[in-house]
Amino acid sequence: MITTEAALLTTLNEPLEFTEILVDDPEPNEVRVAVSNVGLCHSDLHYMTGTVGAVLPVVVGHEVAGVVESVGSAVTSLRPGDRVVGALTPSCGLCRNCQVGHSTQCQRVSQIRQRPRPAFKLPGGQAVERLGDIGAFSRHTLMRENSLVRVPDEVGLHVGCLLSCCIVTGVGAVFRGAQVRAGATVAVIGCGGVGSAIIQGARLAGASAIVAVDLDDARLAAARTYGATHVVNGAADVQAEIQKALGDGVDYAFEAVGSARTAATALSILRATGTACLVGIAPDGTNLTLPASDFFFGEKRLIGSYMGSGQAHEDISQFARLYLQGRLLLDEMVSDVIGFHEINKGFEAMKSGEVTRIVADLTE
Ligand SMILES: [Zn+2]
Ligand SMILES: [Zn+2]
Repeated sequence: MITTEAALLTTLNEPLEFTEILVDDPEPNEVRVAVSNVGLCHSDLHYMTGTVGAVLPVVVGHEVAGVVESVGSAVTSLRPGDRVVGALTPSCGLCRNCQVGHSTQCQRVSQIRQRPRPAFKLPGGQAVERLGDIGAFSRHTLMRENSLVRVPDEVGLHVGCLLSCCIVTGVGAVFRGAQVRAGATVAVIGCGGVGSAIIQGARLAGASAIVAVDLDDARLAAARTYGATHVVNGAADVQAEIQKALGDGVDYAFEAVGSARTAATALSILRATGTACLVGIAPDGTNLTLPASDFFFGEKRLIGSYMGSGQAHEDISQFARLYLQGRLLLDEMVSDVIGFHEINKGFEAMKSGEVTRIVADLTE
């Protein structure tokens, strides 16, 4: 067991509190990671504001990169000193869904999540929860061997952390979820971290038009650098603007906001037979009301994609190569690198909507 510093969420809508915690020794299949960098993600905010339920106290943070510090007795593929990023969805690798490549839908998640003791504890003995079994806003954490992917030395960990959540989610939704074909037309609603990754995925997939939709003009300008060919401010009549620009709806529309309204917009801007893909995480209890005729007369499809649709381990290695070739832009997506103790300010800045990704540096 070691002592380390973590940022704890003890009360909803209050700043994270920096405090000392105890980190358990790795189980046989676990690795202790010295966390280097963590991207601030909207999913963290969902927990911090209560739109997604959590047990408190909890350490949030999940878009993680770091260095392996020690390994459990059964770990064979990682060694101390390895530079790693998180492949976040826990999976067994053995159930039916895992075996066909859908590890985000692992059927044994609750089983493999069980640990004989809490991973994090307060010095007084109280257990501390971890968002997604990670709890990255801690200078040290424990992760399962198969939840980590080694990255080449040339990939800086302050950008490498993006691979673990927003990049795998966004590019995976394009490659694995919707399977965008070359030449297709694409629209992306919401151009934050995940939306920017979807735009890049569409560019890499060979889309012939990529329409970025957002309420923030600075984000729309950035969207062009990631590959958007058209931009539409979401305050306008998005359907009419796309019709005007392309003469039709789009083949694929991605929703990266997480609201019923933008999900309905995604369906409405499709051409007949198009596919809408929901990627944004909507608050608990959100329901959709959609025109049924779009599905039978228009033959539209509505699908979802979660965390890149299940092949993160494989995909993260590919994305690291695309980054090193200059084809996947990561440095441009990092609006700011801040110190660990600045993360509360970072989350405030995120709420303003002007940033793509703020990354915390936990090594200083
Ligand atoms: Zn995330
Ligand atoms: Zn499984």
